[in-house]
Amino acid sequence: MAEPALAGFCALLGAGTVKSAVAGVLREARARSNEGSALPAFDVLVAEICARLTRLESGGLVEVLNGTGILLHTNLGRAPLGRGALEAIERIAGGYSNLEFDLESGTRGSRYERTGALLREATGAEDALVVNNCAAAVLLILDTFARGREVVVARNQLIEIGGGFRLPEVLARSGARLVEVGTTNKVYVRDFESALGPETALVLRTHASNYAIAGFTADVEPRELAALARRTGVLLVEDLGTGALVDLAAFGMPHERTVREAVGDGIDLVAFSGDKLLGGPQAGIIAGRAAAIARLRANPLLRALRVDKATLAALAATLALYLEPERLGEIPFYAMLAATPDALRARAERLRGALEAYGVATSVVPTLAFAGGGTLPLASIASIGLRLDGELDPDRRARELRAKRPALAGRIEDGALLFDLRTLPPERDDEIVRLLAG
Ligand SMILES: *Cc1c(COP(=O)(O)O)cnc(C)c1O
Repeated sequence: MAEPALAGFCALLGAGTVKSAVAGVLREARARSNEGSALPAFDVLVAEICARLTRLESGGLVEVLNGTGILLHTNLGRAPLGRGALEAIERIAGGYSNLEFDLESGTRGSRYERTGALLREATGAEDALVVNNCAAAVLLILDTFARGREVVVARNQLIEIGGGFRLPEVLARSGARLVEVGTTNKVYVRDFESALGPETALVLRTHASNYAIAGFTADVEPRELAALARRTGVLLVEDLGTGALVDLAAFGMPHERTVREAVGDGIDLVAFSGDKLLGGPQAGIIAGRAAAIARLRANPLLRALRVDKATLAALAATLALYLEPERLGEIPFYAMLAATPDALRARAERLRGALEAYGVATSVVPTLAFAGGGTLPLASIASIGLRLDGELDPDRRARELRAKRPALAGRIEDGALLFDLRTLPPERDDEIVRLLAG
């Protein structure tokens, strides 16, 4: 335990974990020696312990500095939380709270009320409900309204999003029967009209968030579909996924359908993620008509999909910023989106100069960043990268940088390793120099 090579692991993983790795390696060495092998030398044992602890450490959650240029990188944890959200988690989850307690009456309250008012304000919906993620939101809606009945979906929206969420399979698992209408490229109102019948529970729209269909296409406007749904008394649901609460055009991005627009179009229930364009914690939000939300609240399945106090605290703190648009930049996603290429170039030049002093050759290059998280798949954002020059084996260098702590992740482009400044936090620039120089 006193071996200097193990000291770093004690700080990282705790002495108990290091001790059990030491004991494990020694036990195995003794067992091998009892079977006749020679006892390994001390430094061989230490190396074996270090290798075991390294595997253990990288198998846990490790901080990554994201130089990939993908803002909502699903594999890197999607939206980073802002200061306000983190402080709210510390305050609420670090002690007790009124999570299910009405402070006025002193009796039991509901955890689902907390974010309701903020969501009503931010979306224009009559009511809203928060569950574990958007997939859970869709599941809850289908289970509540469509079990044993028919769900009508246009063929151009039968999506698979990442992580094995395939709409036909989710529908099948929730006990609903899928009725497909239209073709891959074209669908008309009359297709929906002729599919509706006594067995129809709902019409489901899904947002083309991670794909695009181009060429000879025809689609039905949400308002037309809403009018049809109202006329026939069928529920209209939209799996919006991305969850934009503001117009991204203000950030030089293409316009992305907002939750408020979906609600305004007459969609009865809109489901979206908390950790995509909203920039909050992992959550699934359902906004829509009060009567339909009340049915969802009464579903016993809700108990299995419920969110934790830390999630609700972070979500409320994030949503509050949407009510003060001048504070939107406190949400890291919007701060990253708003950074100008000039500001990114200035940072990149500073990094290049600092690294030059260590003999590390880099160039400042124009790059394209992407929103990610399955959102805006075709919209690139002009950005600036720092490219490592003269690297003979960029894959190996990338692996070495992933092994550092914090890990530094970049991307390989035209055979060179580069780091996009847009997704790297400016306050970590000195650390980035240390990681690249070391
Ligand atoms: C991302 C997405 C989902 C899944 O959201 P999670 O919060 O990851 O469960 C569902 N539907 C659409 C259209 C999406 O874009």
